[in-house]
Amino acid sequence: MYVFILNNRVIRTDMPFDTTMLDFLRSRQHITSVKAGCRTGSCGSCLILVGESDGESVCYRPLNSCILPLEEANGKHVLTVEGLNNNRLNPIQQAMAEQGAVQCGYCTPGIVISLTCFLLRSPFFDESLAEIALDGNLCRCTGYHGIKRAAALLCQNFSPSSEPDSMERIKWLTEKEILPSYLLQIPRQLQEIQPELQRRPNQISQNSVIIAGGTVHGKKSEDLSSEQVVFLSERKDLSGIRIEHNRCQIGAVTAVEEIRNSAVMNRFFPKISEYYAKIATTPIRYRATIGGNIVNASPIGDLCVFFLALDTSVVLSNGQNQRIIPLKDFFKAYKKVDKQDNELVERIAFPLPGHNAFFNFERICKHNDADIPSVNSAIQIKTDNRRILDVRISAGGVAPVPLYLAETGNYFIGKEINNAVIRKAGEIALSEISPVSDIRGSADYKRLLLRQLIYAHFVTLFPESIDTETLL
Ligand SMILES: Cc1cc2nc3c(=O)[nH]c(=O)nc-3n(C[C@H](O)[C@H](O)[C@H](O)COP(=O)(O)OP(=O)(O)OC[C@H]3O[C@@H](n4cnc5c(N)ncnc54)[C@H](O)[C@@H]3O)c2cc1C
Repeated sequence: MYVFILNNRVIRTDMPFDTTMLDFLRSRQHITSVKAGCRTGSCGSCLILVGESDGESVCYRPLNSCILPLEEANGKHVLTVEGLNNNRLNPIQQAMAEQGAVQCGYCTPGIVISLTCFLLRSPFFDESLAEIALDGNLCRCTGYHGIKRAAALLCQNFSPSSEPDSMERIKWLTEKEILPSYLLQIPRQLQEIQPELQRRPNQISQNSVIIAGGTVHGKKSEDLSSEQVVFLSERKDLSGIRIEHNRCQIGAVTAVEEIRNSAVMNRFFPKISEYYAKIATTPIRYRATIGGNIVNASPIGDLCVFFLALDTSVVLSNGQNQRIIPLKDFFKAYKKVDKQDNELVERIAFPLPGHNAFFNFERICKHNDADIPSVNSAIQIKTDNRRILDVRISAGGVAPVPLYLAETGNYFIGKEINNAVIRKAGEIALSEISPVSDIRGSADYKRLLLRQLIYAHFVTLFPESIDTETLL
């Protein structure tokens, strides 16, 4: 049985573990603010807030209920627009109505959820941050200007005086009538349902099907029996980022958004927040994990490409023995990785970049940033200011696997940074790849893109050493 709080009611249900929260809410609870749009986690019309107790407060994430199995709500607080209303429009809804941000209304509840989460979690209220918070919401009739104006109005009218994600922030939002006051009781209510919670075993065996964030696998779970499925979201020991022996260790269940906001990662990669804001959408980034990204081994996997350039290793375990292998050797063939069925990826680890290391990440999409890229690339360059000491460069979308460009990297060693060297490196990179034509572009287009991304790395990192006009 699953027990959780839905808005201000305790729910107990025996529905199957893989019932999507969207279907449960609409069909069983008659909660109709959640809309069935894409059913692939792409459009945001089914967004809900899911809150998890962290002892004192409750930490909320905006999640796509269409790819969220009921299992993931166990012991948590599920909040929909029905649970946000204080019998009249709250300031978010009012701002949307005033600014003409509502037309057919299908996407509106999802947008209210995203903006609520923004006010709960953002350190400060700024239009550009609000825009990122809304990146998981598609609107096909109103147009985005009214929505952006509503977000801007909220940023003008409210200024937080408390830490994000804290009980003080929740209290402040209830005082502003953005959240209803019953939310103050939720931490206590979550404690009260704890004794009722039944946890499934999470032992991995040969037949186990592992689900971490479920953004790739969540959609296939209808074929699985309950016993086979192991959900990793409760494995808190596999989550988090820490530095140990001069290496950064990232637990496999760490979410992409957590990596994006991590103080450690921001110290070593000051532009990581900007790079990762372009990966998927905010609700997907809150669920998608680093472990899922590398095991899924999509040739275009953004985190695969990012971490390939950092000399990353993968730590696997079957419960008895551990194996550590370089990430560049982990990808064997299209969607095939060096992992046994009874092995779990526990974490990844990479050496901390020194003061002479420069890093850049680029991705090009067909439509907009939130799209899956056509080609992506990352580079880490170590230099003594005169010559290149070491280069690690990776590329996605140009081979059956996320690719480590070993020959291109080796070519750079001992060279000065100038146009001729970069051009030659571009030629070598093209000899290492084997792109295919598909919906993200022709093979020729992808070759051109990779060459341009290699140029872009150097234009971004060493503009003073390059004559951009003649290079391009
Ligand atoms: C709308 C949308 C947009 C997306 N956009 C992007 C994008 O821009 N860039 C991008 O790179 N990806 C994107 N993705 C793909 C996906 O979100 C990521 O690859 C994500 O990181 C997968 O992580 P997960 O935890 O959800 O994986 P899951 O779905 O849980 O698992 C994926 C696979 O990995 C296995 N697995 C997971 N964790 C482990 C572990 N620790 N040990 C062993 N096996 C494990 C699972 O069994 C499964 O086979 C998008 C997905 C969606 C739905």
